[in-house]
Amino acid sequence: MATLQISQPLNSTLISIARLNIRKSQPNTSAFVAEKVEAGALLKAVGIVKGEAIYGNSDWYAGENDTFFWSGAVKEYTSSELLNNNPLVRTENPVSIEKDFEQFIDRLELRYFKGSEFTPYWNRVKNGVSNSVPPISLWNNIINTIVILDALRHEIGASITMLSTYRSPRYNTAVGGEPASFHMKFMAIDFNCSEGTPLSWATQLREWRGKSFDLPGNAGSFVFHGGIGVYTNDSFVHVDTRGYDKNWNG
Ligand SMILES: [Zn+2]
Repeated sequence: MATLQISQPLNSTLISIARLNIRKSQPNTSAFVAEKVEAGALLKAVGIVKGEAIYGNSDWYAGENDTFFWSGAVKEYTSSELLNNNPLVRTENPVSIEKDFEQFIDRLELRYFKGSEFTPYWNRVKNGVSNSVPPISLWNNIINTIVILDALRHEIGASITMLSTYRSPRYNTAVGGEPASFHMKFMAIDFNCSEGTPLSWATQLREWRGKSFDLPGNAGSFVFHGGIGVYTNDSFVHVDTRGYDKNWNG
């Protein structure tokens, strides 16, 4: 059997969006089925090849161990370290992208925060512009920030309410957000707490800069550096994990 030419080498993680047959040795539907996966399975791709055209699409991914799967049944997930090293994000049966996201957060097994605390914000409308669910490629970006906020909730010993998380670019403009806002990168959370003052919450967060925090699921650790904005009049604090420190008062 001729070795297939991989036209484009890859090292990506994909997620199946439908039930999918993983074919052995050849990128076509008459090849032996090595494995069947449900929607939501994470798959590793090492390249792209041309194979049997299905609905006019002849791009197939080459997987590991001489396997192939059709590109029309998968979408790009993310290639970040956390995903590759951690099975937390495997979603067996996604009902909707919102539910999928809630599972993504719930699998982190944070002490306090649940995925359902994020999702209401994504249905907000301002001046006729709807916000949206963050693209899957951004989901990992929120992990460090929610880990920090979970630690703060523990430290303060009182409930924290998230007021703003992901903003689509259009929604960010509609609410008058900074043009380069870290909310659009899904790295930022605006919150308030049932006890204390914005200055007291921000002061605690600023003390934690340079401190190492463990990632959920034994996925390593990270050192906290990021933006902290105090909004005294509106009684909230902005925190993000952009990787460098910035302070401001709103
Ligand atoms: Zn903010």
